[in-house]
Amino acid sequence: MDSAPLYLEPHLEPSLASLLDSAAFLHTLVDALGSPLNVVLPDEIARNVERFRAAYRRHNLAGQVFFAHKANRSSALVRRLAATDAGIDVASLGELQHALGAGFAPDRILATGPKNPEFRWLAARSGVTVSVDGPEELEELDALVGRHGLPPVRVLLRLADFEAPGAKVLSRQTHFGTSVKSLDQLLDVVERHQEAIRPIGVAYHLDTTSLDEKAIALEGCLLAMDALRKRGFQPRVIDIGGGFGVNYLAHAAQWERYTTELTNAVLGKRPSMTWSGHGYGLRAENGTLRGTLSLYPAHRPVAGAAYLDELLSLPARALGRPLGTLLLENLYDLHIEPGRSLVDQCGLSLARVLEVRRTDTGDHLVRLAMKANDASLEEHGVLMDPVLLPRGGVAAATGPAAVHLTGNLCLEADLITRRTVHLPRLPQPGDLLAFANTAGYCMDFSATHAQQQPIARKVAVHRDGGSWRWCLDEQYWPITRPGGQQI
Ligand SMILES: *Cc1c(COP(=O)(O)O)cnc(C)c1O
Repeated sequence: MDSAPLYLEPHLEPSLASLLDSAAFLHTLVDALGSPLNVVLPDEIARNVERFRAAYRRHNLAGQVFFAHKANRSSALVRRLAATDAGIDVASLGELQHALGAGFAPDRILATGPKNPEFRWLAARSGVTVSVDGPEELEELDALVGRHGLPPVRVLLRLADFEAPGAKVLSRQTHFGTSVKSLDQLLDVVERHQEAIRPIGVAYHLDTTSLDEKAIALEGCLLAMDALRKRGFQPRVIDIGGGFGVNYLAHAAQWERYTTELTNAVLGKRPSMTWSGHGYGLRAENGTLRGTLSLYPAHRPVAGAAYLDELLSLPARALGRPLGTLLLENLYDLHIEPGRSLVDQCGLSLARVLEVRRTDTGDHLVRLAMKANDASLEEHGVLMDPVLLPRGGVAAATGPAAVHLTGNLCLEADLITRRTVHLPRLPQPGDLLAFANTAGYCMDFSATHAQQQPIARKVAVHRDGGSWRWCLDEQYWPITRPGGQQI
């Protein structure tokens, strides 16, 4: 058994690394605004857009990058994005209002997800493209257009249940979209409502890391486009949704060692690595490993724009040539809806250490001024070490420490992570722990007011020469800053 600390150090690009080097600045922010505190870096979202654009250029493809807004509620990120050429994918009335108010014109907005009548009305009235789930939604849109005398609505037909030609690949169960097997019936409905509905193309979104499944879906969309053309429509867009992923960890070797040791721990070959022997989906039955690891693959050598590049380079199973080539030959626009990957490196979550306690078993409990939902890495299965920012810049003179991170709710389940976390030193009350790279889903998607504990405030930061400057998230606009500096 290997007893060296099981670190899972975060992957940090220069901006986030530089921010974490500014511990005094981050302490001042938490002193003023409380713990927990979320910090976003709007300029990073623009860099990520550019990376996706570069992948488009490599394949000579046109089309739009739509940020899946649900990944983060920040105004600063959305307003900074509005200053790029990207679009936004909104999934609620509030998100649509937010996008319009941030400066997105309707032709840069895509409405997806479950829709209530108000959301659908504002989408149709303002002229955004609507991704429709099925025939019922087409009927609703047709009625809306007729009743209110609205212009025709541009729609994408969201499809699901793609199957590989020949091979029987089990398709993922989803409650969104129309099965490709019912495409004909869906097109009958589109045909009946041609006055009100303009089908500009087809779409899918698969919540999977599997390139194969996505390649099958993309090929299925190419075939669906043929079906639309046979009916006399002139579709030009294939929207392949999101799910390009993020690489959270700095070192592949740490991730491999961690998962190997977790297996050993579940099999009883080494001491537990988690609270109450939690196995993250794995269990031992008569000395044999069972179950499946329910963790995000935190070290991903191919993620984000590189993942898109790889998908487009894959050959289509039935149609032969690479998927990107097939899109180009048909002069189709490629739309994508990245959420997590567009806000990669765009933020971090800070928590103050309230108390450090040694238990009877010799473990250390580190209680944070934060609840599990404030940095819901655990909920998303992302295992990654927080960065210790000692108060006053002086770390305690201890060696590496194994700790359990607990939250501020009066609830046994309020563990920031069920994993035993290895830190280079034992934290002290007053220190900060910084959870890096939480902008995708982890910083605000699940935040609640449970027990009347505050939810984190959010600030936007940017570099100004050698120092960092900040403003409240809602105060941020991507314009010339005081002092004359351009964004
Ligand atoms: C959530 C969602 C996305 C974004 O997914 P990521 O995994 O964050 O990239 C894109 N499109 C739709 C329809 C979604 O529901």
